[in-house]
Amino acid sequence: MSPAPTTRADWQALAASLVEQGLETRAYIDDAFVDAADGATLTTINPATGETLAEVASCDVADAEAAVAAARRAFEGGEWSRRAPGQRKAVLLRLAELMEAHQHELALLDTLDMGKPVGSSLGDMAGAIGCLRHHAESIDKLYGEVAPTGNDALGLVLREPLGVVASIVPWNFPLMMTAWKIAPALAAGNSVILKPSEKSPLSALRLASLAREAGLPRGVFQVLPGFGHTVGKALALSMDVDCLAFTGSTGVGKQLMQYAGQSNLKKVFLECGGKSPNLVFADCKDLDRVAEHAAGAIFHNQGEVCIAGSRLLVENSIREAFVDKVLAAAERMQPGDPLDPNSFMGAMVDQAQYERVLDYIRRGVEEGATLRSGGKALDGPGLFIPPTVFDGVTDAMAIGREEIFGPVLSVFGFDSEDEAVRLANDSDYGLAAGLWSQDIDRIMRVTRRLRSGQVFVNNWADMDQTVPFGGVKQSGNGRDKSHHSLEEYSDLKSVWMTLAP
Ligand code: NAD
Repeated sequence: MSPAPTTRADWQALAASLVEQGLETRAYIDDAFVDAADGATLTTINPATGETLAEVASCDVADAEAAVAAARRAFEGGEWSRRAPGQRKAVLLRLAELMEAHQHELALLDTLDMGKPVGSSLGDMAGAIGCLRHHAESIDKLYGEVAPTGNDALGLVLREPLGVVASIVPWNFPLMMTAWKIAPALAAGNSVILKPSEKSPLSALRLASLAREAGLPRGVFQVLPGFGHTVGKALALSMDVDCLAFTGSTGVGKQLMQYAGQSNLKKVFLECGGKSPNLVFADCKDLDRVAEHAAGAIFHNQGEVCIAGSRLLVENSIREAFVDKVLAAAERMQPGDPLDPNSFMGAMVDQAQYERVLDYIRRGVEEGATLRSGGKALDGPGLFIPPTVFDGVTDAMAIGREEIFGPVLSVFGFDSEDEAVRLANDSDYGLAAGLWSQDIDRIMRVTRRLRSGQVFVNNWADMDQTVPFGGVKQSGNGRDKSHHSLEEYSDLKSVWMTLAP
């Protein structure tokens, strides 16, 4: 095995050798790597350089139909769906091992495809591999139930896989979001069709060959690269897909629910957008540390994070001093070459996202917020936007309400706990919230009042596989991670046996 890359030069050399060897660009359908049925391709570009990386198969309706048919055959055949959980576990653990052996290559593919720093991509690999191991290890430890009936009956509650699951994922954490979906779905015995984002398909296609090598049977795991309005929509409207497991924007999430209603009422689990509030009370300890976390909460991954702490709510008595500390922390988080392991931020994923973020920054200035740092794109090549901080934001402003999905922090002031809670909850979203205070009574009071799927107390985004991840309100209705996500990928079957006296 070649030594692990550690320097920028190592990563550049690995990138050059991967491209020279040739990247996998074909769809993976029914145990074969194939071009799209109509031969269409889409171009994937490295946003840090503007260079074309590859022409990737762009699947459409015919490819979706072929994959759904293969997934159904595999499910009915039972080679995976009826296999003993302990044996499914062995295959998934093998896949985790292969991912670990190829983690540098997989991390690099995500970095090249969507511009995130390679150190951050490596962290994602650890998360993805850990997720696979967690669900593999859980699946042979789940028991069914015996209902508390009278002596004349036996009531059993069995858990069964759903059938064909289509996982539609975004580009901001390509392989980690993929793992959060496919690991519990496969562990539970389903056939899974993965549709990666058209902006970041490369790691998913590499994963397909690792899944084959690990021994996942034919048709149990397939990958369809392509656009949402083509192959994504075809999967969502299919009469033979039993479940849509989606991570992405709230707008597309709403469309998927409509497609389910127009077709076969398939289950739809949604992990959607956010505009997460981060509440800093004057009594919190070590303002320098809190400021560092508040800046990291929004600037990590270029702000392209569903749980980005994009609304910073600060008690007015400390606001001026605290914002200065946040600005100092932001100064240390400038974007750089994603192949440099020391870069904190990388490039925006593509031209459209770059324009969208710059447009929000223009609107913030027009709406009267005070621009305290950043605000101007860096000179090219590459799509780099520095950490941008607006103070004096109100909930009437677009930058205070809408998900920007970029490195833009909106700072609000508050004078009381009630005002802080009102501002925090005044949002269509409810994915995450942060709360910094040393007062345990306040912590519990405010935590209970926050309408949010998760609350981080005196940290931002500290979590692991053991706790569920998901939102309330228009942030979605699903839960990834933990044993709760396994529940989404199985149905309950009740069996009532009448017993002779
Ligand atoms: P997106 O909604 O544009 O796309 C997500 C996926 O849906 C992509 O694969 C896309 O091709 C597909 N898609 C688009 N239109 C479709 C259609 N009509 N039918 C079927 N599929 C379709 O989102 P994005 O830009 O890729 O990702 C950013 C969004 O994802 C942000 O809103 C972010 O908050 C959200 N996100 C949420 C979580 C979470 O866990 N809650 C995690 C990561 C990202």
